[in-house]
Amino acid sequence: MQIQPTASHFIDGKYVEDTAGEVIEVIYPYTGKVIATLHAATPAIVGQALDAARRAQKEWAGWSATERGRVLRRAADIMRARNHDLSVLETYDTGKPYQETSVADATSGADALEYFGGLAASITGEYIPLGDDFVYTRREPLGVCVGIGAWNYPTQIACWKGAPALACGNAMVFKPSETTPLSALKVAEILCEAGAPAGVYNVIQGYGAVGASLITDPRVDKVSLTGSVPTGRKVYAAAAEGIRNVTMELGGKSPLVIFDDADLESAVSGAILGNFYSSGQVCSNGTRVFVQNGIKDAFLKRLTERLAGVKMGDPQDPDVNFGPMVSEKQRDIVEGFIAKGIAEGATLVCGGKRPDMPGFFLEPTVFADVSDDMTIARDEIFGPVMSVFDFDTEEEALMRANDTIYGLAAGVFTADLTRGHRMAAGFAAGTCYINTYNDAPVEAPFGGSKLSGVGRENSKAAIEYYSQIKSVYVRMGDLEAPF
Ligand code: NDP
Repeated sequence: MQIQPTASHFIDGKYVEDTAGEVIEVIYPYTGKVIATLHAATPAIVGQALDAARRAQKEWAGWSATERGRVLRRAADIMRARNHDLSVLETYDTGKPYQETSVADATSGADALEYFGGLAASITGEYIPLGDDFVYTRREPLGVCVGIGAWNYPTQIACWKGAPALACGNAMVFKPSETTPLSALKVAEILCEAGAPAGVYNVIQGYGAVGASLITDPRVDKVSLTGSVPTGRKVYAAAAEGIRNVTMELGGKSPLVIFDDADLESAVSGAILGNFYSSGQVCSNGTRVFVQNGIKDAFLKRLTERLAGVKMGDPQDPDVNFGPMVSEKQRDIVEGFIAKGIAEGATLVCGGKRPDMPGFFLEPTVFADVSDDMTIARDEIFGPVMSVFDFDTEEEALMRANDTIYGLAAGVFTADLTRGHRMAAGFAAGTCYINTYNDAPVEAPFGGSKLSGVGRENSKAAIEYYSQIKSVYVRMGDLEAPF
């Protein structure tokens, strides 16, 4: 399979290169070897992409919504048909095991394209009667949207931002993380092949500076970021200067509360999915696991037994179910947190080390006896590190669960139906789970409260963030004036 793309950027319907841009080396996290070399966008490339998007957006917005939707649905079909190759590429890009990428990345991107393709034609305004007079509203595109992505779900993020943007009649310039620049190029190629006019969806590469230059450009109408809170602060502030519309999908430190009446096996599954999927590099992970005192020992015992089922190795091997971290740098950061956890007095139940094998691996790590003020309890780690806390009562669990600057997600495992709903109502988080964790179907809104973000992706809610309402007042009779 060809890993090196034809060129670094995809602009106006074709691959474009400018070797004057800073070199970006793509490293396969399993071997540590360079598998592709790209170049960051120069100001000329940024300008080319924005000009193409501005021009194409006008044409695209003039199409009927049914035609636009058809393009998106065709792109979804192409993605599904190429799922294997796209999954292999996503695995090279991120190091996530093929066992995951083959069911969670191009497939999730295709879901978004299909869903918003289907929705496009029903994006309409409303009619507001005022006696004989009336007002009607038009739901119009914003114009040129900039998408900036994190490195954990490059294909999914490119589609979660692109699909609603395009359905509403916008054009997009997408900048992937420089750590994982490959997959988004394929999304651009596929959209073009599906019939999107050249320039409607462009991908340019770059480090943070390229993203920063896009945000303040007068040709840009909206910025959608998936990234960390510190980057979110900078991007939000820069967008504010031009009063630009934003979507901010940022980090989290989400709680997962397990009551003693919960089905233990399901609760352990939830904790595993919410901490170790994608080697823990998931924004909504439930990394603060509150376990009611009566079942703490049983929970830790079963969790440790189940973690013996982890199979590390070449992530392209379909039997491997746990991949390396995305980069050496990210592994170093996570190791720093593990050292802090030990130094601050948490009990290391299992993991914590690099296994003796190639790749940026870190064992799935579980800490118990974690107190709320420890660093590992407060900071987003973004790696395979679970912290287990004890609690006694529902009130206590809810109060401690909400004691965080973040508000992305929260989960509860209990057999008591009313308690499950009470907890969900009480959680200060944008996405809550009862007896499950980390589902992200395109039909449901996804996003955070507090520092975890602004706006929602997926579902009909995303339309609000990629369109604007225009009100048109119509008078049927004569108009009077005082003089
Ligand atoms: P970063 O915040 O480091 O980077 C996100 C993106 O922003 C990258 O493309 C980055 O480019 C770019 N960027 C960095 N600085 C600037 C700037 N000043 N202006 C414009 N763009 C900039 O996040 P990571 O890539 O490390 O991803 C991990 C983070 O993303 C975690 O906090 C995680 O929780 C969050 N995340 C949130 C999700 C959600 O939906 N809420 C989903 C997935 C991840 P470059 O990489 O080149 O520096």
